[in-house]
Amino acid sequence: MTHVGIVGAGTIGLTIAWRCAQRGMSVDVHDPAPGSGASTVAAGMLAPVGEAHYGERDLLELSLTSCALWPRFAAELGVDIGYRENGSLLVALDAGDRAELDRRHDFHRELGLPATRLTAGETRRREPLLSPRISGGLHAGGDHQVDPRRLHTALLDAAVTAGARLVRRHVADPSTVDADVVVIAAGSHSGPMLSAAIRPVQGQVLRLRGPADLGTVVRATVNGNPVYALPRADGEVVIGATSAERGFDLTPRAGDAYELLRDAIAVIPELAEYELREHTVGLRPGTLDNAPLLGRTGDPRVIAATGHYRNGILLAPVTGELISELIATGRTPEALEPFDPRRF
Ligand SMILES: Cc1cc2nc3c(=O)[nH]c(=O)nc-3n(C[C@H](O)[C@H](O)[C@H](O)COP(=O)(O)OP(=O)(O)OC[C@H]3O[C@@H](n4cnc5c(N)ncnc54)[C@H](O)[C@@H]3O)c2cc1C
Repeated sequence: MTHVGIVGAGTIGLTIAWRCAQRGMSVDVHDPAPGSGASTVAAGMLAPVGEAHYGERDLLELSLTSCALWPRFAAELGVDIGYRENGSLLVALDAGDRAELDRRHDFHRELGLPATRLTAGETRRREPLLSPRISGGLHAGGDHQVDPRRLHTALLDAAVTAGARLVRRHVADPSTVDADVVVIAAGSHSGPMLSAAIRPVQGQVLRLRGPADLGTVVRATVNGNPVYALPRADGEVVIGATSAERGFDLTPRAGDAYELLRDAIAVIPELAEYELREHTVGLRPGTLDNAPLLGRTGDPRVIAATGHYRNGILLAPVTGELISELIATGRTPEALEPFDPRRF
């Protein structure tokens, strides 16, 4: 029986642990503080196109594959993880924003994804809490959402139920892990263990609570700053997210909270009345080309599963599927080839 040691019990490490244990492998997950990384800070948007940038074609393909796996993945976990398929609303304030929505609409159609361009009136009919300043919108029907904290708890339960063991220890060097195969899934802390350039990209989010009358995920750009409001069924609204390169700094900054609230309230004025519950900071694991490192490394015993940057929640199902297949068969699935950790 193959013995797998996984370093990191975030969304990625636990998904791989679950899938490997289901395939009959013996699995240890090493982490001194499971859930202390980006996975429990993330908003939980599953937005393959909303997060896609021109020129990131391979990443878009992987994201679309993962998005398609999400319904079965969520159902298989068997508990409520807040998975919802209610799309997202991209809204425009000025003429420049409307031109950007037109470009996004073309991109959605090119990919054959459901997207509807809306007038100002149609946009506000879909989401009555939007500001009267909104001048147009785009409904992206292929975007979904999940609650990453519920997801993390469910994955830990599923992995342990399938037979994986949690070992509460910090791993400084993969050579100290007693296993046939070692998977590095330590998020923004993976770099030194892989001799790879993983950079922490700080993101701050706010969690508000209100009367649960905001119906859909709203994304906008206000004076050049992207902002989103992601409502959950229980009345929580996540406002995000900042993006800054400040090393491993996890300080929540007043100025960042101010800017997020200012921009979110410009789009949805009612949010000013909501209770401010939380201000959290996480580190996205970024790579040189913004795509993950997935697969074999220079060390024949070590596999990388990290660098998921802005999309680790979205990419969890496909990462678990493909990395467990690589370990089970010894062959790199074709879909992993563009993400070879040795590509730089
Ligand atoms: C503000 C913000 C918003 C985001 N929103 C979204 C979103 O809406 N949708 C989306 O798809 N993605 C989103 N992301 C990105 C997503 O959160 C990450 O890509 C994802 O969580 C990475 O998961 P991970 O398991 O690789 O890392 P992490 O969740 O960071 O987990 C790493 C784990 O490794 C452990 N660890 C670290 N070093 C060691 C070591 N040496 N030994 C043992 N264990 C170790 C840590 O304790 C931690 O538990 C967001 C990120 C941020 C910061």
